[in-house]
Amino acid sequence: MEHYNVYFELSSVFFLILMILLLRTKRQLNIFKNRLFSKGLRLMLCLNVVDIAGSILINSVNRTEKSTIPVAVLYAITILGFVLQQVVMLVFLLYAIVVFVPYARKRIGFVFIMGLAVLYSLLLLSSPVTHEVFWFDERLRYTYGRLYIVTGIMPAICGLYGLWIVSRGRNRVSKKVLHSIYLSLAVSGFVGVLQFFFFRDQLVLYFCFTLLLVAVFFSVQSPDYYLDQNTNAFNNDGLMVMMKDRIDRKTKFSVLLMSIYDFEGIKGGFSPQNKRKVYQRLCAGLIRRPKKERKKMKMDVFRDDDKFYVMFHNTEEAERYAMKIGTWVTEGIYVDEASPKVKIVATMLLFDVPGRVQTEEEFHSVIKYFMTDDYYKKYNVMQTINEEFYRKKKRYDDVRHLVEEAVRTGEIEMYYQPIYSTSQGDFHSAEALVRLRDTNSIGFVSPEEFIPIAEKEHLILQLEELILRKTFQFIQRARLRNYGVQYVELNLSGNQCTQVNLAEQLKELLREYNIPASFINFEVTETSAIENSDNLIRSMIELQSYGSTFALDDYGSGASNLKYLVDYPFQIVKLDKSIVWAHFGETNPKTRAVLPYSVRMLSEMKVRIVAEGVETAQQKEELVRLGVHYLQGYYFSKPLPEKEYLEFLKANNPIYS
Ligand code: C2E
Ligand code: CA
Ligand code: CA
Repeated sequence: MEHYNVYFELSSVFFLILMILLLRTKRQLNIFKNRLFSKGLRLMLCLNVVDIAGSILINSVNRTEKSTIPVAVLYAITILGFVLQQVVMLVFLLYAIVVFVPYARKRIGFVFIMGLAVLYSLLLLSSPVTHEVFWFDERLRYTYGRLYIVTGIMPAICGLYGLWIVSRGRNRVSKKVLHSIYLSLAVSGFVGVLQFFFFRDQLVLYFCFTLLLVAVFFSVQSPDYYLDQNTNAFNNDGLMVMMKDRIDRKTKFSVLLMSIYDFEGIKGGFSPQNKRKVYQRLCAGLIRRPKKERKKMKMDVFRDDDKFYVMFHNTEEAERYAMKIGTWVTEGIYVDEASPKVKIVATMLLFDVPGRVQTEEEFHSVIKYFMTDDYYKKYNVMQTINEEFYRKKKRYDDVRHLVEEAVRTGEIEMYYQPIYSTSQGDFHSAEALVRLRDTNSIGFVSPEEFIPIAEKEHLILQLEELILRKTFQFIQRARLRNYGVQYVELNLSGNQCTQVNLAEQLKELLREYNIPASFINFEVTETSAIENSDNLIRSMIELQSYGSTFALDDYGSGASNLKYLVDYPFQIVKLDKSIVWAHFGETNPKTRAVLPYSVRMLSEMKVRIVAEGVETAQQKEELVRLGVHYLQGYYFSKPLPEKEYLEFLKANNPIYS
């Protein structure tokens, strides 16, 4: 006759209630995994309570000679205990599957175990009649039936299956989490066996299982893990998990991205302190909405630094709500009653999943594109993924792919555009211009398009090294000097100009290819010069001491600032096509004056002048008359591949005639 000890189960009840209460105080991501875990905790609590009640009843029956408790009650509570135990195990097995097994995988094992559980329940339910599993004798004593062993086998099967799931998906969680789960499972298993065979009166098993749940609660299931501490919104990890959950379960949703650039109307502007205050208000406004509103439109808010994502779970109404939110933040929100409204300056993008965006990868690439492409930096305008957006993004991805391939295989081509010397009548210099070979169908891509993309995608340094090596290799192999070439002009990007060790790198490469520094003239645009003043000037001076020269490129395009001409040691200035063409096309005398006076001023400064974009004989004559030293343009030649360039030199440089 056994007397059941319920103290372990009582403490298990305590832990379960504690976890349930803790979960209630925190905001939780509304995903299947979390719902399962919460349900599981509640069911586990019921199971413990039923088991305690059953044990107390049986204890009391055992104590008295003649019990007044109806036998039906004893059967009901015992069967309920066993069945609940199966339900709890199934819920947590499903939980383990969701956490550890990729969604796509089939769950045949789970279906099989569910079948077994049904059979087991039928066996239990028929036990009052068949006495196969257990029964109560005439003195209402709990008695084991012939098949009593199944009450040990079923939990064992579930436990082993759970272990198998965890071990299959072990790399989906951290080592620490994995070890605590293994340990708890091992302890539960060990205790289970001990209890079943030796100490049936000690109800320790559920206590062990609750400890396992505590371990899970503080690791994979920790509600803090997905919360942004500052704002009470969910964080970026939360967004990823939520997104994966919705995409896996093929549930439609819409996302509004607000990427915040600035605040207006608040002292201190876009400072960290203000960010904290404003973002807290912003999230409070989005999260703490009236109950009626929350019922109508379920939404979740996520924060990743200055980016906010609002996920709408009702896609039909999403646009209306997004517009409302957009208007609210841009018209201004009150951070505190006393001060005026703070206006938020943001770029906003609204899109549906699944729509054009189907997968997590697409989600990331859309966001990344939206954040990088300057074209879309329109503030406080609601952008949607329309035909145009998608076309541009596709083009961007294609070009990026082209650059990636070029960098990977090293297959770029350098073209050379001969530059005419007006004083010597020859082509003793040329500009090297990069070309990418387009093996797929996206058509010709101008360096003006792919160089900025290479920059945004952090491929520029590799691309530039290739450009330098290809050019130097050609200069050395073809012995360009023998064709009457005195120097080659190479474009430096803004990125290169920022490099602290630019001069060393270039010197190193020149040495490697055995090319005198004086054979290279580096072209720098005003925009790249603006950002890198000190470093760049230092590199320029150093390279010049070895004999290289520098040219200020695209002079006259955009807002020319004479400051660069004066402050930087340029020996050459290249007049941009636009001011050359303006001189010939415009009838406005003011515009016509720009070119002659620029040439005069630059001549006074003792810099050599190159005019770009020379396309006609008339332009050539006029530019010669004005005293421009060098001419570059289609009138003389387009940029040419290596072989054709050499042929051009043979035909046009006096050395050969
Ligand atoms: P850029 O440095 O101003 O190069 C001159 C551009 O004008 C070249 O375009 C050239 O093909 C074009 N051009 C030359 N003569 C004429 C003409 O008579 N009429 C017209 N309409 N165009 C003419 P490309 O090769 O497409 O290069 C565009 C820009 O891409 C370059 O402008 C330069 O900023 C950049 N780029 C080209 N190659 C490189 C490179 O190797 N490295 C870097 N960092 N940038 C490069
Ligand atoms: Ca150039
Ligand atoms: Ca230029």
